[in-house]
Amino acid sequence: MTVLRSHVQGSWFTPSVEGRPLHDAVTGEEIARISSDGVDFAGALEYGRTVGGPALRALTFHQRAALLKALGQHLREHREELYAVSAQTGATLGDSKFDVDGGIGVLLAYASKAKRELPNDTVYVDGAVEPLGRGGTFLGQHVCTPLHGVAVQVNAFNFPVWGPLEKFAPAFLAGVPSIVKPASPTAFLTAKLTELVVGSGLLPDGAWQFVAGSVGDLFDHLTGQDLVSFTGSASTAQTLRTHPAIVRNSVRFSAEADSLNLSALGPDAVPGTDEFDLFVKGLVAEMTVKAGQKCTAIRRAFVPTEHVDAVVEAASARLAEVTVGHPGADGVRMGALASLEQREEVRRSVKALDDAGRIVFGDPDQVDVVGADADRGAFVSPILLVGDPERSEPHEVEAFGPVSTILPYTSTEQLIDFAARGQGSLAGSIVTADTAWAREVVLGVAPWHGRLLVLNARDAKESTGHGSPMPQLVHGGPGRAGGGEEMGGIRGVLHHMQRTAIQGDPDTLAAITGRWVTGAQRHESDVHPFRKHLEKLRPGDTLVAGPRVVTQEDVEHFAEFTGDTFYAHMDAEAAAANPLFGERVAHGYLIVSLAAGLFVDPDPGPVLANFGVDDLRFLTPVKFGDALTVTLTCKQLTPRDSAGYGEVRWDADVTRQDGESVARYDVLTLVAKQES
Ligand code: NDP
Repeated sequence: MTVLRSHVQGSWFTPSVEGRPLHDAVTGEEIARISSDGVDFAGALEYGRTVGGPALRALTFHQRAALLKALGQHLREHREELYAVSAQTGATLGDSKFDVDGGIGVLLAYASKAKRELPNDTVYVDGAVEPLGRGGTFLGQHVCTPLHGVAVQVNAFNFPVWGPLEKFAPAFLAGVPSIVKPASPTAFLTAKLTELVVGSGLLPDGAWQFVAGSVGDLFDHLTGQDLVSFTGSASTAQTLRTHPAIVRNSVRFSAEADSLNLSALGPDAVPGTDEFDLFVKGLVAEMTVKAGQKCTAIRRAFVPTEHVDAVVEAASARLAEVTVGHPGADGVRMGALASLEQREEVRRSVKALDDAGRIVFGDPDQVDVVGADADRGAFVSPILLVGDPERSEPHEVEAFGPVSTILPYTSTEQLIDFAARGQGSLAGSIVTADTAWAREVVLGVAPWHGRLLVLNARDAKESTGHGSPMPQLVHGGPGRAGGGEEMGGIRGVLHHMQRTAIQGDPDTLAAITGRWVTGAQRHESDVHPFRKHLEKLRPGDTLVAGPRVVTQEDVEHFAEFTGDTFYAHMDAEAAAANPLFGERVAHGYLIVSLAAGLFVDPDPGPVLANFGVDDLRFLTPVKFGDALTVTLTCKQLTPRDSAGYGEVRWDADVTRQDGESVARYDVLTLVAKQES
């Protein structure tokens, strides 16, 4: 029998003992054995810290993003191999795609976000410069640098591919290596994933280590530079978060645990409306996709009392069409649970829920199964209940399978109160076309939720659904849901970095961040900065151009040409009554246009395009006869590794004859590389 191998300290490790058996969820056959006996956990952590970490930190965010993209593409090419193994976890092809393609999607989404939102550098500059002294010689700036430890992930059995990848992507981008520890029952699929990751040869050594089996004494060796991200049961989360090493070293610990997610049908969504159908469809999909083994699945379906019977009828009709059985058999819509133990656990939970309500669809002990043996595989029927929302069970018992409870409510206030009884959830959906009701409910239940979907006919076509965490959005929830936060775009990357407030003079801050800041030295030369290729430009390269007097004719010409005849520019009497101006003033956009006329170098050269301005502020009114000067300073360079150009951000400061700034903004350009 195959014993799953771990991949630690740069090589595959086969345990010396046989380990415990893992079973095919559909046939019940033993398919592998698992044990981490003999793994040197202290050594694996040290390997991550001394080999993986330095290699990752040597790369810029963009270089890490390019590797992440390449890894995503490699896995996509091999996804059929993952689907094949995934079927043994009880997953249908649709379920496998949710797990496998979903995970690959996270890698690709993170790679593209990093290229757009992170610098091509090794340090992340967080927020604006904070002036701390009146003279401008003492500033503050937050920067984020990668932790020098290892991101340890302890995953649940239900997403053996997506789980590791959604945790890995932000850690990798941050420059922190990972140790991937899947839940044992489905670890054979994560082992296959690891074979593909290691086999790709794309990642620096030590960036991805894999432990098949228990974590042994790994937690004893954690330091304050390591992190733990956990997904699983609330009780294990509690055990792990109170581990002495975690407590002693303030190890960053993030948990996703049990969650009694809700879906609420709005009072406007009466039977016959699109929203009513969307609610029922969403409920049935969440019950049956991955056989309801999704941490985000709908467990509590809140319905106005008068529509409970209609929802039961419509949902039951849809559930009756769900064929349960072998994931490979024709027409099968729902596969097996991950293990027979899990089926027992679901049956126990349904019993508790049944005591606080009644089953209206399905039988926990009986299911018709197509193409497989109903006793040997971990099959269970979808179970729909109607519960008493005043009882605690529907708000506390998470049956981790195709199980949902319909709970009646009579008022918005009551719905919000019931929602809070879940004590913290990952996701909720509010199905309504009524925007005012949506606002009331969203603001009412948001403190108990990590993510809320408002679903109606206007967004249904493009909606990603109730149960799909998105890499751009936060995944996590307060209280019972674990209190953690994963993904959320760049937030997830920053979670793996230390934010440090740096105080110092402008030149030092510019040197540390690689960005020119106000007050730092400027370099003027005979060469116009627009004549310099990307490699030649330096932060601080400056051009001062002007003066240019703004006349009444200029303003009237601009007004007539553009059609912007706003009274403050054109009507002397009305402008005089304006408390801010007192007389006619120049258009803000005229100032920006005149400034461009002053600073551009018109001949063809390395500047390829102007792609926008950021943070434009008009600070002081410009009156007829004022003379404008512009100071343009190269602020930040972002080379694009795979392109013949890079982005250059310029600080533009337009001043008038007395030195007062009248407009300030960042000009964004694309500048060619010399080599291209
Ligand atoms: P567990 O909490 O038992 O296991 C989750 C992970 O923790 C697994 O990798 C497991 O490894 C590991 N683990 C368990 N005990 C320890 C320990 N003492 N020290 C270190 N690691 C440990 O959850 P399950 O995956 O078995 O799922 C059980 C229940 O959790 C489900 O029925 C469901 O109710 C809930 N759950 C909730 C999820 C959510 O996000 N809301 C997701 C998945 C499950 P190993 O498997 O090797 O023991």
